[in-house]
Amino acid sequence: MPQDLKTIASFHAHVYYDQETRTEAELLRSWIGERFTVTLGRWHDVLVGPHERSMYQVAFAVEVFPKLVPWLMLNHGRLSVLVHPNTTEPLADHTAHALWIGAPLGIRGERLPETAEAELPLAPNTTPSLPA
Ligand code: ZN
Repeated sequence: MPQDLKTIASFHAHVYYDQETRTEAELLRSWIGERFTVTLGRWHDVLVGPHERSMYQVAFAVEVFPKLVPWLMLNHGRLSVLVHPNTTEPLADHTAHALWIGAPLGIRGERLPETAEAELPLAPNTTPSLPA
């Protein structure tokens, strides 16, 4: 049986950067904040969790996906972005369930549990004033 869409509690987009592309990541982050109701996570220059490059997280509600994800397709530039749903299966969410915008990077699957509570949408911390 296919999984029901209701299993998706929220989404993340992880925006990856390195020393060469950090300025572009800063610009993309400000563009996102000006246009979308999301939760911009802090900068992780040091590798965390399953991620293989420095990144920040953009957490967003299911209803934001149809605007934000196509916008990221047009505007990610040289940055790699991992978009994944948050269900009760963190490992699958970051691998089998995920999509990459830009060049795919690796994910350290061994750092993710197979099951966990789904992450509900976080309180947004942006106040968009521009149309996407
Ligand atoms: Zn995530």
